[in-house]
Amino acid sequence: MKNICLLGATGSIGEQTLEVIKAHGDQFRLTAMTFGKNAEKAAEIIETFKPQYVAVGDEHTYETFKQYSFSHSFQTGIGEEALIEAAVIPEADIVVNALVGSVGLLPTLKAIEHKKTIALANKETLVTAGHIVKEHAKKYHVPILPVDSEHSAIFQALQGENPKHIKRLIVTASGGSFRDRTRKELEGVTVEEALNHPNWSMGAKITIDSATMMNKGLEVIEAHWLFDLPYDQIDVLLHKESIIHSMVEFHDRSVIAQLGTPDMRVPIQYALSYPDRLPFEEAKSLDLWEIGQLNFAQADFERFRCLQFAYESGKIGGTMPTVLNAANEEAVAAFLAGKITFLGIEDIIEKALERHQVILKPSLQEIREVDKEARKFAQTLLT
Ligand code: NAD
Ligand code: MG
Repeated sequence: MKNICLLGATGSIGEQTLEVIKAHGDQFRLTAMTFGKNAEKAAEIIETFKPQYVAVGDEHTYETFKQYSFSHSFQTGIGEEALIEAAVIPEADIVVNALVGSVGLLPTLKAIEHKKTIALANKETLVTAGHIVKEHAKKYHVPILPVDSEHSAIFQALQGENPKHIKRLIVTASGGSFRDRTRKELEGVTVEEALNHPNWSMGAKITIDSATMMNKGLEVIEAHWLFDLPYDQIDVLLHKESIIHSMVEFHDRSVIAQLGTPDMRVPIQYALSYPDRLPFEEAKSLDLWEIGQLNFAQADFERFRCLQFAYESGKIGGTMPTVLNAANEEAVAAFLAGKITFLGIEDIIEKALERHQVILKPSLQEIREVDKEARKFAQTLLT
C-alpha cells in the first residue's frame, strides 16, 4: 500500500489522480490533500477518500469549508504553511504535486527534505528553480517522477537505457487551441476560444499556456532539468493528434517513442505505480487503424514567440526562467480576467525578460524575491 499526499486535489490533475487511486484502492490510499478554493468539491473528496489531513487554500475558503460535516475526523490547516504541513506528513510515501504555479516550489522542497517520492505535475516548480530542486533531490536521494505526459513518455523510453547514449529528446506538441491560425488571426481571440483545447481537458492556466505554446516552452525547461540535457538536445515537434507523447533519439539513430490515447490518468498512474505497471481498464486502448494517420510539423518560433522566450531564458539560466514563469503566470491570469488581449501575454513576458538583470546561481531567497518583483512589474503593465 502506498500512502499518497495530493497537493491540488480539486484541480484537473488532482481529480484524475483520485480516479487512479480509486481504481486501485488496494494499492493506493489518500493520506493528505490540499485544495485552493473549491470547498464543495473538496468536501466530496474528503467524504469519499477519508484523508487524515486537509489543507485549505485561505481563511475565506475555510469559512465556507467548516460548514460541511464529515463522517470521520481529520486535521486541517490553512494557507501556504498548511501546504507544507501536508507535504511533509509522516504517513505519506508519495507527494503528488498537482498545484498550478510557482506556489508548488516550497512544498516540493520540504517534501524532498522529508524523503517523499515526488510525482511532479507542477512544471512551474522546475521552471522557477530547477537547479535548487535538482540539488535537493540529489542531496536527499529522492526520485522525481514526471507526471507531465511528454516527460513521462521520455522517462518510459529511457527505462533500461544509459542516459549517455541520448542524442536528443523530441518533445511533441499538440499546438493548442489556435494551432491552425496565423499570427494575424490571433488578434482579438477570446478567452472562451483560447480555453477550447482540441485534445485535452485541463485547468485554465495550462490551457492558455498551450494556446500560446508557453506550455511547450515550460516543458522544454522541465525536460532540461529532469533529464539533465542541454537545450540544443531538446527539440519540439508539432504533432496535432497527441498520440506520440514524446520520443528519445539515441546516438545509433534509433528512436524510441511512447504512444497512447491522450489520457492523463495513464502517466499519473505510471508515476504512482513505478517501477511497476498496473492494469487500467477505464482508459481507451490505442487504435491506430481508427486514427488512420499521424501528422507532424515544425514548430514555428516566430509564430509562437513564447516558445522562443522559453528557449532563450532556459539557455541563459539562473533567474531568467524564474522571470519567464512569474511574468507568464501574471499575464495569463490577466488574460483570463479579460484585462489584456491574447497577444498581450507575450508582450508582458518580453518586457519582463528584457529588463531583468540575471542572477546566475540564485539562492532560494533570491528566487522568491525575483519572482515577486517580476509579478509586480507585470502588474504595472496591466494599467
Ligand atoms: P488546475 O487549475 O485544474 O488545478 C490546480 C490545483 O491547485 C487546484 O486544486 C487548486 O485549488 C490548487 N491551487 C492553485 N493555486 C493554489 C494556491 N495558491 N494555494 C493552494 N492551492 C492552490 O490545474 P491543472 O490543470 O490540474 O494543472 C496542475 C499542474 O499540472 C500545472 O502545473 C500544469 O501545468 C500541470 N499539468 C496539467 C495537465 C492537465 O492535464 N491538467 C497536464 C500536464 C501537466
Ligand atoms: Mg504536457
